[in-house]
Order: sequence, then C-alpha cells, then structure tokens
Amino acid sequence: MGDKYNFLEVEKKWAKAYADFYGYRAVDFDKTREKKYVLVEFPYPSGSGLHVGHAFSMTGADVYARYMRMKGFNVLFPMGWDAFGLPTENYALRTGISPQKATKDNTQKFREQMDQLGLSFDWTREVNTTDASFYKWTQWIFIKLFEKGLAQKEEMPINWCPKCKIGLANEEVIDGKCERCGTGVERRTISQWVVKITKYADRLIEGLNQTDFIEKVKAAQINWIDKREGVEIRFEVTRRHNDTVPQEYIKVFTTRPDTLEGATFIVVSPEHPIVKELKTSARGGQARNQELKWYIEEAAKKSDLEREERVRDKTGVFTCLMAINPLTQKEIPIWVADYVSMNYGTGAVMGVPSHDERDKEFAVKFGLAINNEYVPDEKVVDRLVKEGVGERKTNYHLRDWIFSRQHYWGEPVPMIYCDKDGWQTVPEDQLPIQLPEVEKYQPTDTGESPLANIKEFVETTCPKCDGKARRETDTMPNWAGSDWYFLRYLDPNNGKSLADMEKMNYWLPVDIYVGGDEHNTLHLLYSRFIYQFLWDLGAVPKDKPEPYQKRLSHGVILAPDGNRMSKTRGNVIVPDEVAAKFGADATRTYLMFMGPFDATMAWNERSLTGVKRFIERLYLLIIESVAKGEMSDEVSFEIINKLVKKIDGDLAVMKFNTAIAAAMGALNSLTEEGRKVGIAELKKMVVALAVFVPFVAEELWQMLGGEFSVHTQKWPDAVKIIEKEATVVVQVDGKTRGVIRTQELKNSKTQERMEELALADPNIKKWVEGKKYKVIFVPGKIINFVLTGDGDSSRM
Ligand SMILES: [Zn+2]
Ligand SMILES: [Zn+2]
Repeated sequence: MGDKYNFLEVEKKWAKAYADFYGYRAVDFDKTREKKYVLVEFPYPSGSGLHVGHAFSMTGADVYARYMRMKGFNVLFPMGWDAFGLPTENYALRTGISPQKATKDNTQKFREQMDQLGLSFDWTREVNTTDASFYKWTQWIFIKLFEKGLAQKEEMPINWCPKCKIGLANEEVIDGKCERCGTGVERRTISQWVVKITKYADRLIEGLNQTDFIEKVKAAQINWIDKREGVEIRFEVTRRHNDTVPQEYIKVFTTRPDTLEGATFIVVSPEHPIVKELKTSARGGQARNQELKWYIEEAAKKSDLEREERVRDKTGVFTCLMAINPLTQKEIPIWVADYVSMNYGTGAVMGVPSHDERDKEFAVKFGLAINNEYVPDEKVVDRLVKEGVGERKTNYHLRDWIFSRQHYWGEPVPMIYCDKDGWQTVPEDQLPIQLPEVEKYQPTDTGESPLANIKEFVETTCPKCDGKARRETDTMPNWAGSDWYFLRYLDPNNGKSLADMEKMNYWLPVDIYVGGDEHNTLHLLYSRFIYQFLWDLGAVPKDKPEPYQKRLSHGVILAPDGNRMSKTRGNVIVPDEVAAKFGADATRTYLMFMGPFDATMAWNERSLTGVKRFIERLYLLIIESVAKGEMSDEVSFEIINKLVKKIDGDLAVMKFNTAIAAAMGALNSLTEEGRKVGIAELKKMVVALAVFVPFVAEELWQMLGGEFSVHTQKWPDAVKIIEKEATVVVQVDGKTRGVIRTQELKNSKTQERMEELALADPNIKKWVEGKKYKVIFVPGKIINFVLTGDGDSSRM
C-alpha cells in the first residue's frame, strides 16, 4: 500500500506550521462576539513531564474548545504553570540545580509535549506562578487579606520532621513519616500565617446556587465545609481530690443539646488547655499523671488524619477531673482521647451513650455510666440559654487556611515585623518582594525558611517608624498562585492591576472548568473564596459573584493491568512515547474514545491500534475518492450528513466517545463495495473530525482542495435527512433473527402490520411456525416473538 498514511511526517509538518500560527487560538476581547472561556487546570511542571492524566483532561478540553471555535464563539483557551512547590525544591536539594532553572527546563518540556499533542492553547497568554510579575499580585492579594483582618499570625500545631528540621504539609507526611527522609513526624506548635476562610463559610455554600456545578461537585464543597448548628454548653469543673481545678468551666459543643440529660462523661482533645495544665501540675496520683503524659505524647506523634481514622480504636485516659452536668447536676468524669480534635468546636465533646453508638462503645470499654432513663427534650436549649449556661453556635468542619511554609520555593509573604509596631505590610509600590537566589535550599536549624539566612533579605526598615525591622521569611503554600490564576490569563501583562476590569467583565465567569475530582474540594473552595474576597474589594466585576459557571471533573486512566499508574509498579503510560509510536491524532482520539469523559478506564493498546487503523482507513478513503472525483451517491450523502449532526450534538455535551464511535460506524459504511463518496461531503466530515485529529485533518483538508487552515472553518451545516425507511428488528426469544425494512413509516409503529410482515419472511416463519408465542413490541424498533410452548400457531 504505497499510500499508507505516514503520521510522523504529516504531524511534524503541521506542528511546524502551527508553531507560529495563532490564527484561531490567540483571541482578544470582542464585545460583538459571544465568548466561551474554556479552562483546564494548569499543571505542576515536574521533571517527569506530562503524564497521561494531563493528556486526557487537556485533550477533552481542547476538543471542546476547537468545537466551540467552529461554532463561532470567541474562545479563550489558555495554559500556564503552577510551578512553586516542593518537588522542584527537593530536586534542587538533590542536584544543586536551582529551582528557577529546573522550572524553566520543565515548562519548556511540557510545552513541547502539549504542542506535540496538538493542544490548541493560546500561548500569548501563558502565565507562570513563579514569575515575579505574576506573584506580585499573589502578594498584593495577601496584603489585602491582612488589611481586612483575614490574615493573622497564630500559634498553630504543625507536622514537624526532627531530622530535616522542617515543618511539613499534610501531603508531605506519608504514614506518619517524613516524605523526604522517613523519620517519624512530630507535632509542634509554631507561629504561622492563617487565612480566615471560615469567615466565608456561609457564602461559599450559598454561592453554589449561582453556579451550574453538577450535584457531585456541589456536594463535595458543602461536605467539606460541613456546617452544623448546635449549642455550646458550659460545664462546671470539679475534682475528686481536694486540689484546685485548672479551670472553672469547660465548654462543649453539641448538635444534640436535647440529649444533655444523657451526657454521662466528657471527652477532651489531648491539646485541650485543661490537659496542658494537668500535665505540668504535680498534683494528683503520680501514676495517673504519668499515664496521661505518655498518652498526650503519643497523640502528638500522629497526624490529624490518622487520629480521625483511629476513632474506632477508642483509646483514652481519665484526667481525674470531674464536671457537673448542668441539667442533672450530677458529677461526670472528664476523659482525654485522641479522636477529639482541637480544630473542631471547642475541642471537648459530651458523651451520650444512650444516643450515640461511638459514645456507647467508649462507655462500655471504660465502664462509664449509661443513662437510658430519659426522653430527649428540645426545650432544654431555651433553658440553658436563659440560664447563661448555653449559647447557640454554628460550627464548621472547614478549617482556617494555614498560609505559611518554611520552604524556599514559594512566594515570599510580603510582611515586615517591627518590634515597636508589630506586623506591617510591605508598601504596595515595593511589590513584588522578589524571591532571592540562594546557595543552599536546606532549612535553617530553627526550622525557618532558608530565606532567614540571607541578611540582605531579612534586614529592612519598618514602613511605619523607619526603624530597624525584619522581613517575613515564610513563603506561601502552593495553593496561593492557583487560587486566582484564571484571572491573570485575561490580561497577563497588566502592570497596574490583577486584570483589566473591562476584560474581566467580558470573559468572566469561566464557562467550563475541567479538572480532577481531587480538586473539587480544597482548590475549588480556596479559589472561590479568594474570588469572593476580591469581589468584596471591588477588584472583580460587580455582577459576577462567582468565578466558575460549570465544573467538570474528568475521569481517571488506569494502567493496562487495571491498577493506578505508578513508577514503583512500572506500569506508567507516557503520552509522548505513545504519540511517537501511534501518532498524536491516534493518541488523542483513543483517549477520547476510551469511554465517557468522567469515567475511570484502563489503558488498552489493542483498542488504540484500532483507532490508528480508523485514521489510516479514513486517509485511504479520501485519497481514493479524490482520485475518482465522483459525486456522492445518496447513501454516502446521508451517512455523512447524519454523522455531522450526531458529532455536533455529542460535542455540545462533551460525549466524545459516542461521537467517535459514530464516525467509525460511518466510515465502515462509506468504505463498502461500490459506494461513491464526493469531495463536498468528505470536506464536511474532515472539518467535523478535525477537533479530534487536528494533524491528519489538515492534510486531508488540503487534499480536498481546502485552504489553510481546516481549524479556521465554520462547523459544517448538516443537510437534514428525512427518514424514508424504517428498520424494525425481529427477534425470537430475544435473539435477532431478521430485520424488516419498510417504507411504511407509519405502519412500523403498529404491532399487527409488523407481525404480518415478519411472518411473511420464511427465515423468521421457520422459528415460530407451529409454536405458541406472545409478542413484545417496541413501536418502530423491535418485534420479539416469545415462545411459550408447542401447540397451535396462534397468538395468545
Ligand atoms: Zn525528614
Ligand atoms: Zn516600626
């Protein structure tokens, strides 16, 4: 086959042509045209390059963006780099190559891979969170948060690696051990910047009403915030022995105040202040104090997550303290247990074994009292409130956002500390505070960021009193840049503001945001919070209170063995290796053909080979048809017009796999013996398929006499095909035994006539002759003869 499609040559040729061709992807705001902002999550440019998950989600977004362009929309489809973060810093520690250099190399590699895959990003709008011109605005947002009282420095417990002498983020703790060195992680309390996202908890729930997020995504947001109404109840603290008590009262948050009568004990978190006091006081039984001390130290070694997961284990120690149940006036014991977190409510809960399974298990295990002799009473709340013992409160599972990292590779927090004036913001005209280049990326002995070692960075003057002051050396968490990056794409070179108001007014909100399930909680929440905050500042358009209209979470691609891909398993599929072997067009089309865009699917090379063959056969059909120069016959005309309509409908709702399946079916029919396929119809087909196979489509478009580029064409008009024939499938006992083709369109909906026609066919008659049967009929589609036994050939 001399005409065999050489994808390597063709893809290389057109990739080169597209490198400098921005004719359809570089867009500007144009009020006369309707816009579509198609956003896909930007990647972290790691050293291992673009992975297949990126290729999958980005191809889906690309197909959609290409489709929307052809439908006449002004489509914004940008890409950038979420490049601050630990892996690059660790790489620098290992190799001595600076994070700046590694980031540059990696982003270049990623971009080449994206271009190779034919992703039509508008590179004129590329952003990088590590560029000073970008993080200037990340710092500006922080200053605004501080000015509005939403950023504060607080003592917070963190995960601490005693060997690396560094604070670790939760995701850096693997099985209670440091990700870098494997040493057991401890809990330490250090001073951290905290951003008060909880102040926006209600709005983050209510704002969802303004979006078209699917239920799954809305639920993920609401569950993460986990708003609970309840009552904070004050219990008087007493002690068995004649010692003084560490504090007079203890406050307990409960969503079931009506069960107060059944509260027979209290459990506090190991970090609760009342426990701290006890631990240091020498009073009480020495042995009991030892046990308590040991228990608290053990708890400190576990991460929050581990502790939450260990709820079932039910460990605990009695504190020797008692409390008075304000309703029954009975003394009840106070226990300490690690499943109670200081981060939720007051860090103390009441145990009601009669109405809570977990409390019951705890009571049974430690022999605590259980009170079943009462009826829950809603009126208790009013009484408690009236007596000043109870206070209505709303609690959230959502925690405030720890905004400090003691790492190098992040945005410097733009704050200055003066002994006299306290924390001061860096004056706006001094932004950005540039991240200085350093020799060593190791943290300091005190656990501070390596920036603390740079005298020229740290030493500064106080903006208020001009006296000597210290610059903050903490950097921001990796969410800081990604929570607002989608705004910067709208106006990436603006030196005066985040983005121009008129441009934001035109492009916002993001019409569709494609990303992973794992980002439906924190990333989505943080970015919506920052957007709402900017809205309050008046920094984004007034009539656009939410940033994202739709959110689509794409599926997951598993390895051929059905497992998650991982280096240790050695089952990783690398997209550019696949593209080199099968072609980028085949890789893209296969990714979209695997299944629904939100499904979890395993890689299958045989199916990929089938997709490659489809492209080769399409190529061959067009070469042959061009050589023959015939007009389409009626059947080909219908097939292609129907196909264009089918793809149109499917793409509008991102059903990529069914669109491709339809194209494969159409190609089978078009290549049947004796079919005539004309240029005009083939042109339509090529334009419609260009969204999936951008390279070969361009090649075929040229062959068909089209002008560069196929990607600037309008979506083809499909001629409406009027059905002239009905097809009714005939089954016997559910097995297909024949087909009735009839021009009696109306009659195809009546059982009697179809039964008559079916039985007129000897091939069907032989299956049912002399047998009893009943008929199941789906009008216009299926007639099924269900045999019920031998006997007269009669209907039942
Ligand atoms: Zn370590
Ligand atoms: Zn000062």
